[in-house]
Amino acid sequence: MTSPEVPKRSKLELLKDGSRQLRGTIAEELLNDSDEFTGDSCQLLKHHGSYQQDDRDLRKAKNPDGTRKGKAFSCMIRTRVPGGKVTAEQFLAELDLCDQYGDGTVRLTTRQGFQLHGVIKGNLKAAIKGINDSKLTTLAACGDVNRNVMACPAPYKNNAIFDSMQDMAYALAEHLKPKTTSYFDLWITDEAGNKTNEAEFQPVEEPIYGKVYLPRKFKIGIALPEDNCVDIYTQDIGLLAIVENEEIIGYNFYVGGGMGVTPSNKKTYAALAKPLGFVENDQVLAVAEAVVKVQRDFGNREDRKQARMKYLVNNLGIEKFREKVSEYLGGPLIAPRDIEVTGIDDHMGWHDQGDGKLFFGVNIENGRIKDEGDLRIKTGLRKILETYQFDARITAKQSVIFCDIDPADRDAIEQILVDHGMKKADELTLIRRFSMSCPALPMCGLSVTESERVLPDLITEFEEELTRQGLQGERISVNMTGCPNGCARPYIPDIGLVGKAVGKYTLFLGGNSLGNRLAFIYDDMVPLGEITSRLSPLLEYYKEERQTDESFGDFCHRKGKESLQEKAGLTAK
Ligand code: SF4
Repeated sequence: MTSPEVPKRSKLELLKDGSRQLRGTIAEELLNDSDEFTGDSCQLLKHHGSYQQDDRDLRKAKNPDGTRKGKAFSCMIRTRVPGGKVTAEQFLAELDLCDQYGDGTVRLTTRQGFQLHGVIKGNLKAAIKGINDSKLTTLAACGDVNRNVMACPAPYKNNAIFDSMQDMAYALAEHLKPKTTSYFDLWITDEAGNKTNEAEFQPVEEPIYGKVYLPRKFKIGIALPEDNCVDIYTQDIGLLAIVENEEIIGYNFYVGGGMGVTPSNKKTYAALAKPLGFVENDQVLAVAEAVVKVQRDFGNREDRKQARMKYLVNNLGIEKFREKVSEYLGGPLIAPRDIEVTGIDDHMGWHDQGDGKLFFGVNIENGRIKDEGDLRIKTGLRKILETYQFDARITAKQSVIFCDIDPADRDAIEQILVDHGMKKADELTLIRRFSMSCPALPMCGLSVTESERVLPDLITEFEEELTRQGLQGERISVNMTGCPNGCARPYIPDIGLVGKAVGKYTLFLGGNSLGNRLAFIYDDMVPLGEITSRLSPLLEYYKEERQTDESFGDFCHRKGKESLQEKAGLTAK
């Protein structure tokens, strides 16, 4: 008699299974003298919001005697901020913590969170506790669970629409939060009171995730049809608000989006989310939970490169996937409303909030808050927050919105920007406002080449080229990453740049700033120094033959790869 086949599980699945709800040996390792965590702890740490990294610029550094110094380890700490909504106090706490424990910079992420970098192991607990003291959390900012829930951050007050999306982001984040007490035992409770050891461990119920959590990370975003600022189609679940009579009556659910690709593994690909159904407000949590549970039970736990929900949705087919979700929900899903994404807003500059107050979006290039030379972003933001105590919002384009501003304070706030070398949105080109990058080198262990450190200069080159061609007013989105994992969503903008080798990039074209179409590979292994010159003939072509109001991405999509390559004198690949 043959025994029933036991499904194979990846090493990481076995690690989670034996981890006593994500504890592993983190507590013991926090107490030892080593400057690094073991590999297993590094994996579990992600669920607590931290990645161990090492500064790759320092890898080759040598001691005076000529021997290698060895890796300089530190941790990145990511804070989960549903909808990017923070108080002045919370924002200031992150600024304080980056000075106290980090590398003196804070990064606003592409998922509306904060990141601290360069926190050494000995300071990790104090930094996470500091974040928790500000009533934010790093729990589930990373790891195989639902991560930060994104939502349109615009703080308009003249109807209930924007607050409803923000409230829904918070409700989803709370509903899908892991219940493990390991986070509090490890980071919040002092050593004497924690229950991290084997003998004292008492499991709590994880009603949604079960013992081994999800097969892979999980992402949710909420937007309006006229403003897809959080890129809902790139999410595991994208929610598109359906508005009637100035109220959200429910959401179209889209499922199975995801950006990560491994070029050497032909079974991996970027995917846009597909329509699942229309869901009324009071059913959103239940349907989201059902989707998460389908992924929990049917997602691939053998091969992590096939574990994102996009592969499950595509392998089953959307109809079968929908049937499974209905089964878990205990009732049928309603057909999605016939509605399309039609716009995108970066929410920068001054806006009337609708209640007599203003909000002000300040572009932070690539989300990096730091002081460098005359550009003193960290000090400038600190001054605004300390002086006015504004609530703030982090946008999906790594920037910040200050809320509830008295119109009488407008000039003084603008003066603070000027005093710190910062620019208002209307002083920046659209291509700079609509560009973003992942951190990549020197800290990201997966990066194959530069991203954040080279994009500002590359955008300057693009600006010069656009001006030369009389296209300086065009809104062209540019997303760049240092590897194909796609953290800055590079497979959907007008121009996507994905690190392929040191100093070389795969060039994607034909997406758009609305984020509702995948771009195609136009060229590969393009040296950084040649990107602008390779795009130059295409911009000329665009200028000559574009249709009224056609964006660069739409033009590239309409013309297609071969026509573009022919125009540029490239052999079709
Ligand atoms: Fe690192 Fe790659 Fe993500 Fe960039 S895209 S942060 S290089 S993993």
